[in-house]
Amino acid sequence: MHAIDDMTTTLNDLKHIIQQKHPTADLSLVELAYEFAEKAHAGQTRFSGVPYIQHSLATAYRLATMDMDFPTIIAGLLHDVPEDTAITQQELEKEFGEEVAELVAGVTKLGKIKYRGIERYAENLRKMFVAMAQDVRVIFIKFADRINNLHTLEFLPPVKQQRIAQESIEIYAPIANRLGMGELRSELEDLAFPFLYPDEYTWVKQAAAGKIEAQKKIVDKMIVEVNDALAENTVASFSSHGRMKHVFSLYKKLLRKDRDLSKIYDLVAIRIIVPEVKDCYHVLGILHGRWRPMPGRIKDYIAQPKPNGYQSLHTTVFTDDGHIVEIQIRTQVMHELAEYGIAAHWYAKEGGMGTQVPREQLGWLEQLMKLQKDAINDQEYLENLKITLFHDRIFVLTPKGDVINLPEGATPIDFAYHIHTELGHHTGSAYINEKIAALDTKLKSGDLVEIKEDKSRKGPNEDWLTIVQTRMAKEKIQDFLSRQRRMRILDLFSRKP
Ligand code: MN
Repeated sequence: MHAIDDMTTTLNDLKHIIQQKHPTADLSLVELAYEFAEKAHAGQTRFSGVPYIQHSLATAYRLATMDMDFPTIIAGLLHDVPEDTAITQQELEKEFGEEVAELVAGVTKLGKIKYRGIERYAENLRKMFVAMAQDVRVIFIKFADRINNLHTLEFLPPVKQQRIAQESIEIYAPIANRLGMGELRSELEDLAFPFLYPDEYTWVKQAAAGKIEAQKKIVDKMIVEVNDALAENTVASFSSHGRMKHVFSLYKKLLRKDRDLSKIYDLVAIRIIVPEVKDCYHVLGILHGRWRPMPGRIKDYIAQPKPNGYQSLHTTVFTDDGHIVEIQIRTQVMHELAEYGIAAHWYAKEGGMGTQVPREQLGWLEQLMKLQKDAINDQEYLENLKITLFHDRIFVLTPKGDVINLPEGATPIDFAYHIHTELGHHTGSAYINEKIAALDTKLKSGDLVEIKEDKSRKGPNEDWLTIVQTRMAKEKIQDFLSRQRRMRILDLFSRKP
């Protein structure tokens, strides 16, 4: 997909890709940032032997392909300057302004995260989410940086290879997934996979190679027939193409299916992209009228999106030759959201995110996606992202390192109910960052929260109703209390005679 790699990216490539999308853009600050970074990194080389600036360029180039805003691209060029050179944060700010300097500072801070095994996992995640809460663009830069580091991983000593590959799969990829950036997530995983599990990687590649070839032929033939069927039924505008399953995702699926390749139907799938939601269902109807669907394999992720916001219709049909092919149907907007997630705002701003942005998304990603719809421009979008989403939401962690998203002002009781109703009802005491804390303490982003259950507790206290912040906790407490009241009354009457 990206023909230009670490070895060959030039300033002109970078300018070219920006100009493709913004023909009239003033690129003088990009040029200045390039010269600045080149001087700052002068004499430094990458493990591969190329000048260090190649890494800065590749990072910025990647951000430009995602159509990120200018401060982000410029910060991409400068992202390793304070870390690796004598230039200070203040000097950067003087030259490039506060916004760029802050972005670079955010990346530098994140750079200090090193994977140190599962016991540090929570800490890593916490830092990531805190950085993201400050400015989500920091994460985009970190992703672009990481992609280039993975592309050049072969030149690193084995110990570093292992660490970077592991971090990518265990920390970066899940975060990309939570942000709805499916393509990026798969790219991180696929680049890291051969380094982290070389034997498994070789096994999957070898096992799947023949079958992929065979399936490609089936899909190519089927695409022609699908196009005919859609044209016959006057579906005016659509595009269809084959899409190959990503290798790490295939590997994970194989582990769930007893390593049996014959149980995997989406090795190569057909993807149909249409203008509007109603077209998706129309196309599904045509396909099912023409080919027999496989029972139990029709999934409506439009009506019920995946937790990360993913939307599409999936079905699996039997071809005329009796082969099995999976077909995915989505709108262009859904397609861009699936590939780029929240970054799609920049990517798709001319495509009109319009009214098709999914309404029924779960949790905080619903809010993330909604912001895209409402924003008038990038600046406003970013402000909204920071204020609406992150400034009134906090991220706290369970002892296992799971990230729990709560409204600001939430207490340990809200947290307990969020984990499990029974845990909420039997909340005994709370530990925040390993120190005992009152149950009405207001939690902060990054807190590690542990609830100790009190088995002898019969249920929630009435005054908890004045402490909790989330509707979920409030309803569950009220529910419990009114049930208890009914029981008491029943009890009363049953004893009366
Ligand atoms: Mn870097």
